[in-house]
Amino acid sequence: MSLKRKAAIVTGSTSGIGLAYARAFAKEGANIVLNGFGDAAAIEKERAGIESEFGVKAVYSPADMTKPDEVAAMIALSESTYGACDVLVCNAGIQFVAPVEEFPVEKWQQIIAINLTSAFLCMRAAVPGMKKRGWGRIISTASAHSLVASPFKSAYVAAKHGIAGLTKTIALETATHGITVNCISPGYVWTPLVEKQIPDTMKARNMTKEQVINDVLLDAQPTKEFVTVEEVAGIAVFLCSDAAKNITGANISVDGGWTAE
Ligand code: NAD
Repeated sequence: MSLKRKAAIVTGSTSGIGLAYARAFAKEGANIVLNGFGDAAAIEKERAGIESEFGVKAVYSPADMTKPDEVAAMIALSESTYGACDVLVCNAGIQFVAPVEEFPVEKWQQIIAINLTSAFLCMRAAVPGMKKRGWGRIISTASAHSLVASPFKSAYVAAKHGIAGLTKTIALETATHGITVNCISPGYVWTPLVEKQIPDTMKARNMTKEQVINDVLLDAQPTKEFVTVEEVAGIAVFLCSDAAKNITGANISVDGGWTAE
């Protein structure tokens, strides 16, 4: 168990890829800080389930990633509960699909805040403790859209390219402190985030649901299959291992060959 007794915060871990990271770290023995929105009873069920299934501790932080004070409080919760934030995964994210001339300004601002600025805020708050302890693993969920673009996703593509740049910068700043900083770039993973963009993509491209799935989503991936949340989480566990201590500043694709084309 490579992460035994380490403390791992995963933002946006009440659903999808984030929940898979949290469960994968718990399986490796880490204590967990869950974060994200959703039904309180469902979140409590996941939290308690992680504790009983993996024999670790899990606490929930309701911090809204658009609020700097709440982000700082989430890092402080990990430090006061577990004595550290050893692993930080910046994962919370949303999507919105529309042509640029119709893209609501408030949606642009919300996506930049949740998908990009929150990672800066989390790293800013977590790095001092990691430097003091001489060990840390920072991982962000970027996207194939950190490397290539798709039409109608201006804010998302801009934010994810930003994550790739932020990753490299903080990797350089922390390189001599036992800290690695990387991002993982999945292709399409079947989660609520992907499901929810289908109606808007149908409208923007004048397509049926089946056409969006086959001709837009799966068409991007040479493997013609969705990536799974467990495959993404497996890369994160590897990045936390000793074998990965010289991987820093990297952007690791898990995209079925999408960005090879
Ligand atoms: P999801 O909708 O299942 O999960 C998103 C999580 O973020 C949820 O827990 C939600 O509550 C949380 N969240 C949203 N706004 C928040 C806020 N203001 N503060 C705190 N938490 C907030 O989506 P997902 O597909 O699991 O996405 C997770 C990450 O993976 C995102 O950054 C997304 O861009 C990225 N990603 C997803 C895919 C994909 O195909 N699903 C591909 C590449 C990258």
